[in-house]
Amino acid sequence: MTLKLTDVVLTYPDGDRVLTALDHVDLAVAPGEFTAVVGPSGSGKSSLLAVAATLIRPASGTVSVAGTDVTDAGQAARTRIRRDHIGIVFQQPNLLPSLTALDQLLVMAHLTGTRPAAAAPRARELLHAVGLAGKEGRRPHQLSGGERQRVNIARALMNAPGVLLVDEPTSALDHQRGERIVTLLAELTRDNGLATVMVTHDASALPLVDTVLTMTDGRLTGGR
Ligand code: ADP
Ligand code: MG
Repeated sequence: MTLKLTDVVLTYPDGDRVLTALDHVDLAVAPGEFTAVVGPSGSGKSSLLAVAATLIRPASGTVSVAGTDVTDAGQAARTRIRRDHIGIVFQQPNLLPSLTALDQLLVMAHLTGTRPAAAAPRARELLHAVGLAGKEGRRPHQLSGGERQRVNIARALMNAPGVLLVDEPTSALDHQRGERIVTLLAELTRDNGLATVMVTHDASALPLVDTVLTMTDGRLTGGR
């Protein structure tokens, strides 16, 4: 399994009590498997992604990414795991306003010490793969919402992660653009052998995924 959470409990302080956001959650995603997580607002979906992304440490349970148990890893090790093995796509594409689509991707390569000239071929190839050939010189304001989300996805894949975590990628898009983004995620998952977890409200996305899990009050259930 490329991504494995075992018996994960996550709590947040809530006044003089604690709120249980993840209640003994198990999740295993294999290479090339596209998993969707559905469930009501406030049920713990984004918290699940934050734990899987090694951004938050759970109160108990274990998290393993690309064969490495990261549960007790320190800050520096987590940052390295995230950079090298995890692609993260949030709801709103938080692109840097002054950079072209190509440069958004080259910034990611820079984090691993790769020079722009060496990284540019892969960046161009990824922009091509997400349907943005010919638009690599555009800045965010010169792209549509769907195109910005495509840049966001290409950027998440720049360092060739094994795990892709996506939080409600279609919420800012109309139905048709949303469906195209999910189709793209399904193709990228298959073609790159990614272990992908996508949180979604969008039921039309579900025929395109391999596994559907449901989050209810911090408990993850289902499969089909
Ligand atoms: P979802 O993504 O399904 O809407 P979240 O994971 O964002 O759910 O939230 C799950 C629960 O945890 C909610 O009750 C939310 O209010 C709470 N929560 C989320 N983030 C925090 C935080 N940083 N501090 C305290 N409570 C939080
Ligand atoms: Mg959320």
